[in-house]
Amino acid sequence: MKVVKFGGSSVANAEQISKIIGVVTADADRRLVVVSAPGKRHGDDTKVTDLLIALADTVLAGNDHEAALQEVVSRYAEIQKDLDLPADVISAIEADLRGRIEKRSSNDLQFLDTMKASGEDNNAKVIAEAFTKVGHPAKYVNPGEAGMLLSDEFGNAEVLPESFDKLATLKNESKIIIFPGFFGWTKSGEVATFPRGGSDITGAILAAAIKAEVYENFTDVDSVYAMDPRIVKSAPAIDLMTYREMRELAYAGFGVFHDEAIIPAVHAQIPICIKNTNRPEAPGTMIVPTRSNEERVVVGISSADGFCAIYIDKYMMNREVGFGRRVMQILEDEGISFEHTPSGIDNLSIILQSKELGAEKETLVIKRLNDELSPDRIEVEHGLALLMVVGEGMHYTVGVASKATQALADAGVNIEMINQGASEISIMFGVKETQRKQAVNALGTAFFG
Ligand code: ASP
Repeated sequence: MKVVKFGGSSVANAEQISKIIGVVTADADRRLVVVSAPGKRHGDDTKVTDLLIALADTVLAGNDHEAALQEVVSRYAEIQKDLDLPADVISAIEADLRGRIEKRSSNDLQFLDTMKASGEDNNAKVIAEAFTKVGHPAKYVNPGEAGMLLSDEFGNAEVLPESFDKLATLKNESKIIIFPGFFGWTKSGEVATFPRGGSDITGAILAAAIKAEVYENFTDVDSVYAMDPRIVKSAPAIDLMTYREMRELAYAGFGVFHDEAIIPAVHAQIPICIKNTNRPEAPGTMIVPTRSNEERVVVGISSADGFCAIYIDKYMMNREVGFGRRVMQILEDEGISFEHTPSGIDNLSIILQSKELGAEKETLVIKRLNDELSPDRIEVEHGLALLMVVGEGMHYTVGVASKATQALADAGVNIEMINQGASEISIMFGVKETQRKQAVNALGTAFFG
């Protein structure tokens, strides 16, 4: 049995939904189908999830939400009309949305999740109807009822371990299952969602639960590319990579697959295949436990803007037992998550996502660091981009770092920091955001020609 997941652009309109019916029914093993909410139909379109967030915000602000609600309904109505499905499909969706608003929770984050989750939930119902109508009996399954139990971290939930046994029984279903991605229920029966893009995570959990032969993740590109094709048009396709490589790349900017979706697949050792709904015959990218490193030492280069660094200098820091712990304690107290902490004899840098450190929090954290640790210097640098050069082979290969630094130097890119810490399979470079594209191009030429 294969688990197949279709992202937003693959289920954005009737034409795309007809394509996915073709893809699923072309292989009798594709029986568990995870779907996103309708995504963008064209470049400047809006995803239904974003329309739902706007609707929820309007409700929360106490403003008239009728127009925002109708905008969501009209997206499904277009699909219903073009697929010639019964009109009551749409009245049911409208009633569902009104019901969610009426039963609004006093917890705003929970309410937001209920509204966001309706995007995939209603789309799964529509898609199950569409399969059945063309002669392929399909069944919509509600994630909560099926046992997708999540933590109550609304908007950022994680699967609870007890989910897997219950979800495993889905493999006994004879019809094609249409399972909405992105959400589940908490133990107390409230809807909770994964982070944005989380339908990939749903698919991985189901693949692990039913011990699928493969988890096929259909999107709108032929494969994962070694660099962001929006920066490097000629970026080579990656045909094979490991879980670890994908996680490192996904974490730092490869949006094609959610980084948290790797973990369930790793635990159950399920191979993942990234494929294109619009060109299902293309082989795609296989993500597997191991690969031979001879062919490609470096498999990909990812990059992302939106980071900042706190630099702390203190003479004799090396002898001050507990210094690092106290820095981390301050971050923990203020609810700040950090990414990396490269350190030297008398200095420590903390790299964070800028969104973790708003202006108010920055003032507070710097004050606390000054008061409680008496450093010689503290500086915050904004506008940093991180670049990750990723490949299992680099651990065994001499000269990867020097090739990368030489390429960056030749391109006139100033390296703000380098980190090749615990991970044996990546080197991280911090550069100014303004030099990110230049840096990716330079590294791309160095490693892929
Ligand atoms: N629809 C959700 C989002 O846009 C989840 C997903 O598509 O994976 O984030």
